[in-house]
Amino acid sequence: MNREPNQPPSVAPPPAPVPKMLVIDDSELIHRMIRVRLQNENMEIHSARSFSKGIGLARRIDPDVILMDIELGMDETMDGFEALAELKSDAETRDAPVIFISASTETMDRVRALELGAIDFVCKPFEVVELKARVRSALRVRSLVRVLSKKARIDGLTGLWNRSYFDSRMQDEIAAAARHGRPLSLVICDLDHFKQLNDRHGHPFGDEVLERFAQLLGAGRPSDVCCRYGGEEFGVILPDTDQNQAMQAAERIRASIELERWPLNPELRVTASFGVVQYHVDLDAPGMVELADKALYQAKELGRNRVEFIAGSSRSRSVA
Ligand code: GH3
Ligand code: MG
Ligand code: MG
Ligand code: MG
Repeated sequence: MNREPNQPPSVAPPPAPVPKMLVIDDSELIHRMIRVRLQNENMEIHSARSFSKGIGLARRIDPDVILMDIELGMDETMDGFEALAELKSDAETRDAPVIFISASTETMDRVRALELGAIDFVCKPFEVVELKARVRSALRVRSLVRVLSKKARIDGLTGLWNRSYFDSRMQDEIAAAARHGRPLSLVICDLDHFKQLNDRHGHPFGDEVLERFAQLLGAGRPSDVCCRYGGEEFGVILPDTDQNQAMQAAERIRASIELERWPLNPELRVTASFGVVQYHVDLDAPGMVELADKALYQAKELGRNRVEFIAGSSRSRSVA
């Protein structure tokens, strides 16, 4: 499960960690040779001598590149193609580029490896300069994939997680809550009369309000997952949080946006409405969103600038 910080930092990112390389080969000679010849490459090198150990290690260390032989010793129950297929079928190991190293000169072996998702294929015996160049190129691909996949999950205006991340994280958190029997709550909120605010004060000011609201959302527990759900609508997933605590969290945000003063428009008061729901076993992600939306709708109906909740039945209560 993804555990990156809730709000991506707005300052320069910390220096990139040293890339990790995983070498899966049964030949002690290969491991030693790679360690010696790539020692100046600023890489952490991990070794596995069987596919099953290599796959297990890949899940644990999240390597940036994997060098893998196709055929290991006689007692292996799988070959490199099967190991590659397993790595590519698991979300935790799928993105690590795999370079095959093999004595095979068969064109069909290369074709099969590339079709299964290997990024490159090096024939033994190989020149170390060539191996280094191929490893560097695989690392460049890995780092671009990281940047792009993070960008694809972040909302450009507010820096919060976006809708597509919200959807996948809801699934993960519901599965975790069900598995561990822990509480989980969801808050959906929507800024009040925002169309009017845009009309009166201009769209750029509206954007500023959205950015500030996102900061206020992000001031809760570090484990809260704050997302921009749509235009002026936000979702906060609160793991390990029951309904009462979620109501309090929503009330904190409600009060903080109402109390916010806007230097460009000192008289202006911005408010938002909130719907809260706690997970229970009969709910899936769309069901939870639907109930939170229903509660939000009630908050709007009852006059806005308030927090409402819906429990499995249709009980509801306001704290504002
Ligand atoms: P309600 O209190 O019922 O929620 O009323 P509302 O005006 O907030 O709701 P409505 O759905 O009618 O309008 C939402 C507005 O939010 C319309 C849209 O232009 C604005 N909006 C959506 N995304 C953005 C954005 O990225 N920036 C700005 N400035 N405005 C946005
Ligand atoms: Mg071998
Ligand atoms: Mg609105
Ligand atoms: Mg809306």
